[in-house]
Amino acid sequence: MGTPDNDVAAGHRAQRHVAVVPHTHWDREWYEPYQSFRLRLVTMLDELIALLERDPSYAKFLLDGQMAVIDDYLEVRPENEERIRALAATGRLSMGPWYILMDEFLVSGETIVRDLQSGLLRGAAFGGAMEVGYLPDMFGHIAQMPQILHLAGFEHAVVWRGVPSVIDRSGFRWEAPDGSSVRAEYLPTGYGNGASIPDDAKALVRRVADHETEIGDFLLDGMLFMNGTDHQEPQPWLGRVVAEANELQDDYVLEVTTLPDYLAGAPTEGLRTWKGELRSGARANVLMGVASNRVDVKIAAARAERALERYAEPLSALYLAPEEFPHRLLDLAWREMVRNAAHDSSCACSVDEVVDAVLVRYAEAYRIADGLAGQALGALTRSLAEAGPTVVNVSARPRAGMVEVVVAGEDVPAGGQALPDEPGAFGIPRGMGPLTLDATTVRTIVGMLPNGSQIDTHTWIQGVAVEEGESGIDITIAFGSEERFDVPIASIKQDLYTRLGARPDAMVRIRIDQPLVRRVLARVEAVPGFGYRPLEPVVPAHPVTVDSEAGDGPVVMTNGLVTVAVDRTDGTFSLDGVPGYGRLVDGGDFGDSYNYSPPAGDRLIDIPDRVSVTVSERGPVRGVVTVAAHYTWPDHVDGMTRARTGEVGVEVSTDIELRADERIVRVATRFVNPASDHRLRVHLPLPEPAAGSDAECAFAVVHRGLEAEGRVDEFGLPTFPSRRFVSAGGLTVAHDGLLEYELVDIEGGPSERRAKTMAVTLLRSTGMLSRLGMAYRPLPAGPLTPVEGLQLRGRTIEARYALCTGCDDPYAVVDDAFVPLDVLYAPGGGERPPSASALEVEGAEVSAVRRQAGMLEVRVFNPTARTTTVKVGARSGWLVDLRGRTVEPVDGSFDLRPFGIATFRTAG
Ligand SMILES: [Zn+2]
Repeated sequence: MGTPDNDVAAGHRAQRHVAVVPHTHWDREWYEPYQSFRLRLVTMLDELIALLERDPSYAKFLLDGQMAVIDDYLEVRPENEERIRALAATGRLSMGPWYILMDEFLVSGETIVRDLQSGLLRGAAFGGAMEVGYLPDMFGHIAQMPQILHLAGFEHAVVWRGVPSVIDRSGFRWEAPDGSSVRAEYLPTGYGNGASIPDDAKALVRRVADHETEIGDFLLDGMLFMNGTDHQEPQPWLGRVVAEANELQDDYVLEVTTLPDYLAGAPTEGLRTWKGELRSGARANVLMGVASNRVDVKIAAARAERALERYAEPLSALYLAPEEFPHRLLDLAWREMVRNAAHDSSCACSVDEVVDAVLVRYAEAYRIADGLAGQALGALTRSLAEAGPTVVNVSARPRAGMVEVVVAGEDVPAGGQALPDEPGAFGIPRGMGPLTLDATTVRTIVGMLPNGSQIDTHTWIQGVAVEEGESGIDITIAFGSEERFDVPIASIKQDLYTRLGARPDAMVRIRIDQPLVRRVLARVEAVPGFGYRPLEPVVPAHPVTVDSEAGDGPVVMTNGLVTVAVDRTDGTFSLDGVPGYGRLVDGGDFGDSYNYSPPAGDRLIDIPDRVSVTVSERGPVRGVVTVAAHYTWPDHVDGMTRARTGEVGVEVSTDIELRADERIVRVATRFVNPASDHRLRVHLPLPEPAAGSDAECAFAVVHRGLEAEGRVDEFGLPTFPSRRFVSAGGLTVAHDGLLEYELVDIEGGPSERRAKTMAVTLLRSTGMLSRLGMAYRPLPAGPLTPVEGLQLRGRTIEARYALCTGCDDPYAVVDDAFVPLDVLYAPGGGERPPSASALEVEGAEVSAVRRQAGMLEVRVFNPTARTTTVKVGARSGWLVDLRGRTVEPVDGSFDLRPFGIATFRTAG
């Protein structure tokens, strides 16, 4: 290793190795839709393959670290698979390790792992993926990335955005919270520092020398010259011009090479260590506003992740026979999730056609997952020995909670709470007399009916009786609240169809026999983790009461554990005496999909014109107070004055819910967005002033202070992402896709700064993909394209979050708030006992349960700073790494290091 600066000053110096890595950065969809970019991809790869085959001096090419480009290409050019395989086999073409270059903060940890695993698997079909954690364009990097890479056997990462100013060399050791680390190669000016090499050797040498002047202080040894940028095509003269440049001079030795070859020789000694996430805007944009644009996309992502990770996979793994595990359908769902993880896709910093496609992919993944979960629950229902309602818990932790059940008759179980009566199935009033129709009409109706027995959420066909007589045909259909598996609907339909066809002139009398049922809320005692038990309602120890008698005074809802008092004048509420929760603050946003930008002289609206507070439910199991608030918001930001202008009215409805025996307060806020160019946040007071926050990220909780590092080109706005929850000052907020928060109302001097409030963004409405001259980011971050969908104008927004003060386990809050207990109605006659746990996991958080390689696979992580003992009941098996390679045997339990991630495989 030389000291280049001194040598240059002295006029004689060692030769600098310049590693030229030809590549292209291929955003699959962004300012153009996928199919448009794919057409360009096909052209680019057609040319690249031919170039590599004919020109050995064009030695190498990096296919952007993501296998999606290969699959997208081969869908159009299947005949070129062997040519690609041959180029990969000889090391000319590097591909993978990811399936897609994801965003790391906006998708789940499990999505990141599946992204890597599917990339490695697909890469194996071409002789192996590149074993470098190539992360060129992600908008910052999660704390646990070094551990994820380490668990896949990688020693290197390559990063650009997010690297803090204290890292002042092109290499550093990047350490995860568990202490595992990788060597990170830092690209100080990005992945395009060697893009567009001129077809002129002298000009190339000048370019290299200029770049050395620019980043020379960073260089440890060689210079990585990334020859490519967004959607760039290869430059056919590269090999020749590099050879000519080497002939011309002795200062630099240029070599067309690969990342792994370059990194194999990169210095590893004496590197500075950085532990944790990389979210600094010191030298490159981190584009923090992507966490809050298109909140509908973030909510859809949260719903799909939950359906897949928390329901479909574990339920299928635990309640279906191993050979019935729906591998293929789950792979299809995951493929949609992984494609959507792409940084321009999940971040929704894209044109509307792209965002529409992202929403469709989330919907498809969700539908697959939801359907598979239903099938697995059906299998569990049928397999239970005893008949009757059974409560199912899909969380690893044993949990009590509230369930909604349908009970026969008028009686409400002791301690239960009756819900308002509903009309009968199909909207037919219960006890209505027979309906008389002609046979031809009925036959048409029968022909259109599905072959299932379920009528609605709570109603199944129990049986069908048919009587034929002189005067016509009598059909009696019995409905009931229990799912029946012995009613042959298809053959009943066929029989009716035949009979009605034989007597087209007959009158048909249809009677619906609907027993009296009631929907009831009930509190149930602890259900085993990943288990079930018969429904046995209990009388709550801490029932909810709601007191709304006091005229203009607050509406007070309490269960003895938490007291919520809703202010009738402004619609905010207090929690245990701390006032001001739920204050909605609407401000202007003249920003873009990437960054928030306050307009000139911003006008904040946080006081409603009028408020009405009503009690929707009064306990004892659940209390709900509904706040209907009317606001007048400015209509939009004027393009010339850059000030908020116009007026629009909006009705915002908020349900505040408290359940018996729980400390959690659930909040759901609904409105139709009437305005453009604005940001709506809910302000949540902190019980104690806080110097920082603790937010969930993939496989960890990260601590952040009140500031973010930035620079003139991107102000360090301390709005941060949280995956499913964030805690500060004694308050935990769990949410359903409301990823952005900021600690505000800061007081105290520089060393004593404390925030008093957490603001959670409910909506950020802008109309531009990227904008010029913004307050916090003056230069564009993408094309200056108007994108109407980013406004979300006219769209219904439903923001759901849960608050808990003094709750020490935020993962439990998330489970209770968003992964509720379910009730099944078992017919009896199966083999499973009335109560059991299908899988015991104690001592760590569970990230995934699925079947893999013929085994049951459970991935856990330790979110604490203490070594934990993970107990898996009587099971034995192995710990494996993220590539399925055996690490060590397990018998009943294993120790997991602080902040460690582990994957356990067991038979059965
Ligand atoms: Zn990109």
